[in-house]
Amino acid sequence: MIANKFNILPSEEGFYGNYGGQFVDETLKEEFNRIYREFLHWKDNSDFNAELNYLLKNYAGRPSPVYFAGNLSEKYGCKIYLKREDLNHTGAHKINHSLGEALLAKKMGKTKLIAETGAGQHGVAIATAAAIMGLDCDIYMGEVDIEKEKPNVDRMRILGANIISVTNGTKTLKEAVDAAFSAYINEYKTAMYAIGSAVGPHPFPMIIEHFQSVIGREARAQFIEQTGALPQCVIACIGGGSNAIGLFNGFLEDETVDIYGVEPLGRGKNPGDNAASMTYGKDGIIHGFRCKLLQDSQGNPANAYSVASGLDYPGVGPKHCYLNQIGRVKYDLIDDNEAISAFYELSKTEGIIPALESSHAIAYGLKLAKSGRYKNMLINVSGRGDKDIQFVLQNKQIGI
Ligand SMILES: *Cc1c(COP(=O)(O)O)cnc(C)c1O
Repeated sequence: MIANKFNILPSEEGFYGNYGGQFVDETLKEEFNRIYREFLHWKDNSDFNAELNYLLKNYAGRPSPVYFAGNLSEKYGCKIYLKREDLNHTGAHKINHSLGEALLAKKMGKTKLIAETGAGQHGVAIATAAAIMGLDCDIYMGEVDIEKEKPNVDRMRILGANIISVTNGTKTLKEAVDAAFSAYINEYKTAMYAIGSAVGPHPFPMIIEHFQSVIGREARAQFIEQTGALPQCVIACIGGGSNAIGLFNGFLEDETVDIYGVEPLGRGKNPGDNAASMTYGKDGIIHGFRCKLLQDSQGNPANAYSVASGLDYPGVGPKHCYLNQIGRVKYDLIDDNEAISAFYELSKTEGIIPALESSHAIAYGLKLAKSGRYKNMLINVSGRGDKDIQFVLQNKQIGI
């Protein structure tokens, strides 16, 4: 095994090949470079890691198990293993990087976290991390999303976060990101920007990737312990790409392991009907970094759609773009109906209700299992589906 043939770090300027970088103004550049230096210092600091590992274990519930899904395996003729990020505190993988970001902010002497949220999943994880670290927390959220995502808004408020309603434009995630960024420019001396996926300007993608890599490290060791060998393939869903890069990093150097990232095809391939940035996007810049980006005819970021609101981002993390370019990871598609079918299939066959985001990875795994190509596989269940139950029941016409 050649060390780091595929699992590369970004350049000093934050590029993975052509992707990533830091397309922001000078003030932010200076601050982001400071965060970069601090991150490089703290990530190898034994006190920092002892504190983080204590929280991951005793607060978040890690390690999350790898579970052999025996019923599914029998039904589909392939040994299917699930990495259970759905069992984490707050119900998804997002707590992994939220705790890391909050601890880093605290070590840097910051007193507040600033974040945006769409469906509220990232907001809840950040509000949770802020509560345990004793930090203030401002969450920017579109007025439309505040209305739609009431349970998560209530959760964030109970956790002590301030919800700031964003009322311009489409009043959703895109405007919330802009508002959070503007607020941050005024407050960066005391506040830390807490991004929600492996996206954004350097160094955020590498910070998120670092804190999520615990998934792949654990999963590789657990799989080997249970089966005596590596999996033949691993699968994760891709929104911005944080749960996926966390899993993939554990296996990138294992060239016998095929790796699949699953993008949401939504209602179909027409613009505005999906969030398949890698498949249908062109090189472009969004939120301070270069990636495969869904764009309208003028080259502006296009509207993205998926039944899973955690996946509907028009861009995708820079390391994924690089891994796609060099062919180490295969990126493929699952539509809304296939995801909802898999949501029911895992629920009824194994008694595990997955998030609609994770259902994309499961649907793809089941397709591969049926094809007979693999004897075993490992699928990341990035989160639990409690948040999606109302929606799925109200939209019975889709998929079933
Ligand atoms: C937010 C979310 C995702 C998508 O985010 P990534 O950064 O692509 O991992 C996937 N699954 C769940 C359960 C989520 O909450």
